[in-house]
Amino acid sequence: MVGATGTPHKADASGLPIKDRLTGLGTLASLRDSIDSIAAERAADPAPFTIGLVNLDGFKPINDLFGPESGDDILCQVAERLLACVPDGASVMRTGGDEFAIVLPFVFERKSAEKVGMMLKEVLSAPFDIGDRHVRLSASSGFAIYPFAGAEAGELTKSAATALYRSKRRGRAQITVYSHEIAQEMRRATHMEQALRNAIIANEIDVHFQPIVEIATGDIVGFEALARWCDADLGYVSPAVFVPLAEERGFIDALSEALLRKAAEQAVSWPRHIFLSFNLSSAQLVDPATALNVLSIVNRAGLDPRRLDIEITETAVMADPDIAGRVLTMLRNVGCRISLDDFGTGQSSLGRLCDFTFDKVKIDRSFVSRLTAERSTEHIVRAIIDMCHGMNFQVVAEGIETAAEVDMLRRLGCTIGQGWYFGKAVDAVTARRLINDSATRQLAVG
Ligand code: C2E
Ligand code: CA
Ligand code: CA
Repeated sequence: MVGATGTPHKADASGLPIKDRLTGLGTLASLRDSIDSIAAERAADPAPFTIGLVNLDGFKPINDLFGPESGDDILCQVAERLLACVPDGASVMRTGGDEFAIVLPFVFERKSAEKVGMMLKEVLSAPFDIGDRHVRLSASSGFAIYPFAGAEAGELTKSAATALYRSKRRGRAQITVYSHEIAQEMRRATHMEQALRNAIIANEIDVHFQPIVEIATGDIVGFEALARWCDADLGYVSPAVFVPLAEERGFIDALSEALLRKAAEQAVSWPRHIFLSFNLSSAQLVDPATALNVLSIVNRAGLDPRRLDIEITETAVMADPDIAGRVLTMLRNVGCRISLDDFGTGQSSLGRLCDFTFDKVKIDRSFVSRLTAERSTEHIVRAIIDMCHGMNFQVVAEGIETAAEVDMLRRLGCTIGQGWYFGKAVDAVTARRLINDSATRQLAVG
């Protein structure tokens, strides 16, 4: 967020402000005007030109830590640096909180755009002074070249935003120029988006269930619900592809609600001691309404929330720790348990285990599959298990594929596991049969 001084003033004919009061730069409206006028000048001979969007990485924490005045101060310094370094004829605008645009009338192709991106990256990586302190930031950028990436302002800006989004997804300080490959991927994603939306409406997204077992006995203690989609044209599409797509395109709630409804309707008929584990995606954890949505679906299905585990990842929690904390607390208050999924991947921090209240930690498959080959992994997994037990978290090992891994995990004190060794995700009917078989075996042993 920018401070009060950050509000832009003066408006163009459509009511959009044209000058940003904080930095004195033009705004989104002037970006559009600038694109339109260069395009008009070149109407007879449409020579290319380039626009770039530059977004600061990790600006929000700076604002939170040092206060909005310091944030404003940094934004002004960014504006000055950009103005000082852009090539002749270029203009700079501030198009959002920590986002800037650059119009480059004499940048005609990809290589030159990348060069400008490298220069911006360099210039913005130098420390910023706020009072007597120094802060380091990085910036990501996305470029779009006219007319290939868009023949009018809205489309060209959208392409630059897509390129910027790609940069952000790849990490910090990345540079992306909108390309043929990106355009093709966008078309493919749009086609998949349509198919997925239709499949949700037609109730064609299925849920399969992977058993979670007690390692010592192999008894089923729960099932993880995993989304399954097979499209007539596209064939089998992995949830690792379509779940992020639904998040990105803003309909993860519809997808997730359909999945939870189906999963809960099945879980109701399982014996009471068998829990349902359900994945929530990152986008859902930044929405305070998620807890109530989840609970109302579970209630409608008649499933006791105490039989529901909610799986979340660390990255999802970190996107907005305040809201995530609220959502998770509400769910826990009615008896749901919270599992930290994929533990050990991403930017895991052991400290995070203390910041939030979890009930379970799922050790990622990448650790489990290295367990029997690497001594160091054995030590890490042992440490994770001991630490979790010390903090009263249950530990579930994921992706167990071999008997050797089972043995090792058992020796390390892990009691609950999941993986192809015990069973792949199966449809509701097969899950039911697995439960019956497991019950019969327990009776025979008992
Ligand atoms: P995840 O939550 O980590 O789920 C575990 C993934 O590992 C599943 O892949 C599962 O089939 C696979 N797996 C389980 N055991 C083994 C094993 O022993 N070996 C190997 N190689 N793989 C194993 P899947 O079903 O393709 O799901 C991929 C990811 O998609 C999930 O990772 C989860 O992040 C996401 N996802 C799936 N269903 C849902 C859903 O309903 N909602 C949300 N938000 N995400 C979902
Ligand atoms: Ca999971
Ligand atoms: Ca996982």
